[in-house]
Amino acid sequence: MSAALFADRVGLAYRTPMEVVGGFLDRAPVPLLDMAAALGLSVDMGASLPAGISGQITHIRRADGDRYHIDVNGQDGAARRRFTLAHEIAHFLLHRAFLDDALTDDRMYRSRLGDVMERQANRLAAQLLMPANLVRVAWNAGARDVASLARTFDVSGQAMEIRLRELGLEG
Ligand SMILES: [Zn+2]
Repeated sequence: MSAALFADRVGLAYRTPMEVVGGFLDRAPVPLLDMAAALGLSVDMGASLPAGISGQITHIRRADGDRYHIDVNGQDGAARRRFTLAHEIAHFLLHRAFLDDALTDDRMYRSRLGDVMERQANRLAAQLLMPANLVRVAWNAGARDVASLARTFDVSGQAMEIRLRELGLEG
């Protein structure tokens, strides 16, 4: 699909998907559902999925254009569901050319796409949930404990710990 068609379909006013995403990375917690809606994605945060599945993204072909739908396992805790949503948005941004129909992620965020693309999706998910500039601002303002930073960004303590290490911000 050409960029112009994509813009027409979801009313992006000819902005690229990454530009659309950038408009949501200036506040914490990042409003992921609003971001998904702006990208033209429909989302079910309470989907009935098998216990071994964290989420999936489905490519729906329609006469009036392609659609993408994200399902997040409703049995998972809030922080995990939020990470899953970010991970599936990342697959849309990075890998939608590979989404023939549905892509399913297990609890370790493994899928048929393989490890390299899964690592890409996890990295971008962390960047969407914990934008580097916002984390640095919070850190420099004195928020140095993982638990309160995790609350600020609405992520798990483990995800925040990994992100701080990535950004070279360690206590
Ligand atoms: Zn994945």
